[in-house]
Amino acid sequence: MDNADISQPYQELMIEQSLAKKPKPAVSDHNKNADGDYECIDCGELVEPQRVALGLTLRCISCQQLHEKQ
Ligand SMILES: [Zn+2]
Repeated sequence: MDNADISQPYQELMIEQSLAKKPKPAVSDHNKNADGDYECIDCGELVEPQRVALGLTLRCISCQQLHEKQ
């Protein structure tokens, strides 16, 4: 058996595993409620799921827009 034929897929598998272990981007979760939803730090309303999916968990859309104007 030629070792080169089996080492390549094995290396790729190792790389996939090391990538899978990489920590996700840090998301602040101090404003996460008991249901696992995020509450806007300004108004207390739930942050839109679309924003949470992007890691933007601190503020709802309207408060974020106000925040950016300041
Ligand atoms: Zn808000």
